[in-house]
Amino acid sequence: MTDSIRTRLDNVRAELVALATAAGRPADAVQLVAVSKTKPADAVREALDAGQRRFGENRVQEAIAKFPALRDEFPDLALHLIGPLQTNKLKEALECFDVIETVDRPKLAEALAQAYAKGPVRTRALLIQVNTGEEPQKAGIAPREADDFIRDCVERLKLPIAGLMCIPPVDDEPSLHFALLHSIARRHGLAALSMGMSADYRLAVQQGATHVRIGSAIFGERPPVSA
Ligand SMILES: *Cc1c(COP(=O)(O)O)cnc(C)c1O
Repeated sequence: MTDSIRTRLDNVRAELVALATAAGRPADAVQLVAVSKTKPADAVREALDAGQRRFGENRVQEAIAKFPALRDEFPDLALHLIGPLQTNKLKEALECFDVIETVDRPKLAEALAQAYAKGPVRTRALLIQVNTGEEPQKAGIAPREADDFIRDCVERLKLPIAGLMCIPPVDDEPSLHFALLHSIARRHGLAALSMGMSADYRLAVQQGATHVRIGSAIFGERPPVSA
């Protein structure tokens, strides 16, 4: 028999506390972002009933279809955008997400600054996605451009940048990427580090992750991506 969402959540949460404590960090140092992409609202509800409040989605439209109704019932729900953001979806994203983890290019940063200048939005915190593996098919600012980009976002555009996010290449040793992300964040005094997924969150917590984005270890396997 497969474990329930509640059981898996309890196990992951207990592990995050144990890992943080073992690393000499506070027990609540790591926030669990439960990645519910492709999963039905019923699965999200099961997680909500088990006390989970922070979720990650990678598509704006999917999040808008699933979350507003759940949010009416659970006003303290927090939603993270963890997938690429097109500027034509920006307005909707700023109404739906509490955190956008995928600020990855100057054009998007400029558009965000314009949107913030226009008035209040839901999104309170932004993370800059760094393409630590310099993979051409992957989003994120290149490591060698990261310092200038972060400075520009914070100092000139006054964006609420809370930290950095990365998705290591699938076939690479993730700890190199986690260490690189941590060192860039440290130079800029950025506190939030979103790194670690189902396969590598233990390592990520040991290397200072403040947010882990865990999908399949909680909700089960997803169907293969159809481009
Ligand atoms: C899907 C996804 C995750 C979760 O992946 P799992 O391996 O299912 O834990 C984390 N981060 C991002 C950016 C994702 O797209």
